Amino acid sequence: MDWAASNLPHTKPNTSPLSSGPTANVHLDAKLQRELARLDDGVPFNPKARYLHHTWAQTFFSRPELYFQPSTVPELQKIVTLARRCRKRLCVTGFGHSPSDLTCTSSWLINLDNLSQVLEMDVDNTPGLVRFQAGRSLHNLNLALAEHGYTLPNLGSIDVQSVAGVISTGTHGSSLRHGLVSESITSLTILLSNSQLVTCSATKNPQLFRAGLLSLGSLGIIVEITLQAVPDFNVSWSQSLQSLSSVLESWDKDLWTQKEFTRVWWLPYLHRAVVWRGYKTDSPPRPPNTSFYGGSFGYYVYHNLLYLSNMFPRILPWIEWFVFGMQYGFKPGTFVTSAVQPAREGLLMDCLYSQFVNEWALPLSKGREAITRLSAWINHDEETARIPVSSKGIWVHCPIEVRVTHTSPHVPNASKVRPYLDPTVPDGPTLYLNATLYRPYGRDPPCHERYYEAFEYLMHELGGRPHWAKNFAYASSEQIGAMYGQDMVEFLKVRDESDPDGMFLGEWHKRTLPLNITSKQGQDVKARPKYRLMEEEVRRSKKGLGWGFGDGLLWEGRRVGDLTTEDDDSDEDDSSSDENLKTGRNDTPSPPATTTSEESFDYMAKGEASVYAEKEG
Ligand SMILES: Cc1cc2nc3c(=O)[nH]c(=O)nc-3n(C[C@H](O)[C@H](O)[C@H](O)COP(=O)(O)OP(=O)(O)OC[C@H]3O[C@@H](n4cnc5c(N)ncnc54)[C@H](O)[C@@H]3O)c2cc1C
Repeated sequence: MDWAASNLPHTKPNTSPLSSGPTANVHLDAKLQRELARLDDGVPFNPKARYLHHTWAQTFFSRPELYFQPSTVPELQKIVTLARRCRKRLCVTGFGHSPSDLTCTSSWLINLDNLSQVLEMDVDNTPGLVRFQAGRSLHNLNLALAEHGYTLPNLGSIDVQSVAGVISTGTHGSSLRHGLVSESITSLTILLSNSQLVTCSATKNPQLFRAGLLSLGSLGIIVEITLQAVPDFNVSWSQSLQSLSSVLESWDKDLWTQKEFTRVWWLPYLHRAVVWRGYKTDSPPRPPNTSFYGGSFGYYVYHNLLYLSNMFPRILPWIEWFVFGMQYGFKPGTFVTSAVQPAREGLLMDCLYSQFVNEWALPLSKGREAITRLSAWINHDEETARIPVSSKGIWVHCPIEVRVTHTSPHVPNASKVRPYLDPTVPDGPTLYLNATLYRPYGRDPPCHERYYEAFEYLMHELGGRPHWAKNFAYASSEQIGAMYGQDMVEFLKVRDESDPDGMFLGEWHKRTLPLNITSKQGQDVKARPKYRLMEEEVRRSKKGLGWGFGDGLLWEGRRVGDLTTEDDDSDEDDSSSDENLKTGRNDTPSPPATTTSEESFDYMAKGEASVYAEKEG
């Protein structure tokens, strides 16, 4: 399957043949050339220019100044060192599957596809404990695990994302016996803004571990991951159409507990839902039964009907009836699809086309109210909905995804900690409601803004918190700060210690997190940017992309420090502090003795790290 939204034009990311060659063809500014010459270390530095980055859904595009795919950790450390010396913001991307502008940058973009090796199986003689480089995808990790008889215990809808990307936004599946995908991770190694590698776990640098398990790319670069896999298993699953009333009736009974894995696709105009259930089995694999309509024919019919609905939104209830009737039968229970598959395949699903997604976590106990009120709003019964946003003329797409997780302390969790920014309910089961809106052939649906405003109002009122990766737009950084309270304070404290200049911060973080972004200088009350390397948005527009990119937006940013002149003076300070490390001068705080993980986190954060861990080890 092509997950790159195949019906949109494929971008030509890079025309420069520099993936492993010299940098001669890439224009490097004078400052960077000077710093490169100073290092003169034999470690490759292979940026690409003219790279066009985009999200999977092609909702956002950006043109980083330089794009890197390092193959070794020293290469990665060198990029961080040069970014620090040359005053560049760094952004890391996995597979660009977060549909927001989270991974957009006009500065330097790093991807770890070439840092994706499995390093060790059965670490410390613990069966199924695996250590690997963080750029590895869930799919390739599962393939490697299968060779040893292991698998991941739980998955979301797809497995193409990088493991580092998955944990950095709190990716989840749907099961009350599991929490976030990150709960299997027992240790992380993170490259911080001072070029130092730090390992953290529940017992070593635990605050850094709690921050690193869901860090939104704002803490540093996750380089290595240790994860507890489980013995490989097959999943027996089945799915069928049910009435929404029967789903709501069984909500507090056995809807979510009958089988280990359960998810629901709610069809709001039909007042029905497709219920998918899966459980571990010893039965041999059996492929899914398919229908004439269920394959590529149905795929194209639905896509084109959605495209038509952008012009005539009123036809959406009819499309829901036709498309889901053709696939699952026009009456509940008439057609059941089922299969037995290895978990690494059976837990996945086809996400179809480019889409906006707006998903919130809220207490499972609020589920019936949430669905009843949202259903009323979608069906234009504003009195029952009690949502102060007009639904007049609004017609939406289906299905709305209904999923669950459970992260409270009594559910086993190999990581043994709770990430500070975990959006799930800490002391009970969590419901995830995901309002999907397709973008047929890259075109935004007309209901987009008002539907999401109403949806987010309801989610907020019911005590929800947004999924970090998705397209929430109406929650301010103050509201998000209030949703997390002391956990947010602790997260930002760890973040600031790891990256005081904001090298890993961008506009998305500035807009979403309650960062204290100005600092006062001495007695002078004039405020100046605290995070001098942070990037902020200059504009987003369709200009510059050319014809054929649908409604995707080109994001452009600039470094916050570019607005001040003070910053220029400190450029030299930075390189000279690195220089001091080489010459042994003691003008800066002492660097740690090694660049590996044994240092205390505090100590590490103050010292300038030496640049090449492997050479010094
Ligand atoms: C079709 C589709 C289906 C999806 N299904 C689900 C689902 O079922 N459940 C769910 O919860 N989510 C789901 N998602 C969301 C997806 O899992 C997240 O957006 C995830 O973060 C994407 O991983 P990525 O590798 O593409 O990371 P990116 O989107 O590229 O990056 C995500 C974040 O991770 C950071 N990051 C990446 N690599 C590193 C690194 N090495 N070190 C530090 N930070 C890093 C980035 O800076 C960024 O902040 C889905 C998305 C799509 C497009």
